[in-house]
Amino acid sequence: MKNRILVTGGAGFLGSHLCERLLAEGNEVICADNYFTGSKENVAHLLSNPYFELIRHDVTFPLYIEVDQIYNLACPASPVHYQHDPVQTTKTSVHGAINMLGLAKRVKARILQASTSEVYGDPEVHPQPEEYWGRVNPIGIRSCYDEGKRCAETLFFDYHRQHNLDIKVARIFNTYGPRMHPNDGRVVSNFIMQALKGQDITIFGDGSQTRSFCYVDDLIEGFIRLMNTEPGFTGPVNLGNPGEFTMLELAEKVIELTGSKSKLTFMPLPQDDPKQRQPNIELAKAKLGWEPRVNLENGLKKTIDYFKNLSA
Ligand code: NAD
Ligand code: UDP
Ligand code: UDP
Repeated sequence: MKNRILVTGGAGFLGSHLCERLLAEGNEVICADNYFTGSKENVAHLLSNPYFELIRHDVTFPLYIEVDQIYNLACPASPVHYQHDPVQTTKTSVHGAINMLGLAKRVKARILQASTSEVYGDPEVHPQPEEYWGRVNPIGIRSCYDEGKRCAETLFFDYHRQHNLDIKVARIFNTYGPRMHPNDGRVVSNFIMQALKGQDITIFGDGSQTRSFCYVDDLIEGFIRLMNTEPGFTGPVNLGNPGEFTMLELAEKVIELTGSKSKLTFMPLPQDDPKQRQPNIELAKAKLGWEPRVNLENGLKKTIDYFKNLSA
């Protein structure tokens, strides 16, 4: 018997890789997406598979289908996109969570939430373990995303306590790879596109802020392992690559790997931009037997190849 699995936001960057992997493992996959930041192109190669179904659907509206598992990924992830319509961003996280939890409750499905390292805000604990409650500005320009995701976590745990739902919460740290949106303003896609076009590389602030970058295949492996942990294990679990780099180091790596002649240019640091971020992944190692395998250099090479083919 195949499992029927719903992936919301399945036509996005992470979602499309997840759909691909779930189909390859012999599952039936329903992808629900409103195409705000995702596209049919991301899943075009899956459409001929009879076990794949694509539906245009906005998760802020109810969805009545029958499924065994739900991966809830629907939500714009890059600041440029989630700040475009911040009210819709909060609605997507909060109403989207309520609807998907309501669905999971009715059909008794196991449900995984794609949460984020942004729940830690601009952290004063480093690296961030799951026990850390975070330091988030509730009224800033990033709040629609950060607080929306925090409220979604609250809803997941209340449905778990109140209705006994089988939940799993993943806190994803910056992830990159093929099918990232080339114009989503995220640092990896920006730097690669700029380097390939020979344009100046835009460093926000002095470039000393850090991020930890996880390659998409590693992240998807972590998702699947988390979904398949024993009932009662809820997380939250950090999923990310602990390798930590400054934005200056990232820019230098991208220039080196593309052989670009691009120069660096410095721009103002956006409001509430976290100064450092690195996951503590001890829990994922212990509970999922998981850790990332692809280092930044190898992951960047694959991502650069993807962007080269896009512009070709
Ligand atoms: P993405 O923008 O490529 O994918 C999000 C998908 O959700 C898109 O296909 C979009 O069209 C869809 N979507 C947005 N609003 C929707 C709505 N109301 N109804 C239905 N679909 C909707 O981003 P991604 O990087 O693939 O992120 C996927 C998930 O992972 C998001 O929930 C994001 O918050 C989370 N996440 C990603 C990262 C990362 O670094 N990529 C880090 C932390 C968390
Ligand atoms: N819901 C849905 N699909 C379902 C069941 C519920 O989209 O199969 C939505 C429905 O819109 C509802 C929400 O999930 O508002 C929360 O459902 P729940 O049963 O928890 O709450 P209630 O219906 O009692 O408000
Ligand atoms: N950043 C940068 N130049 C860019 C885009 C982003 O220096 O062209 C910086 C940004 O200020 C932040 C880091 O890179 O400090 C990561 O930004 P991104 O938007 O990718 O992710 P997030 O801030 O959500 O972690």
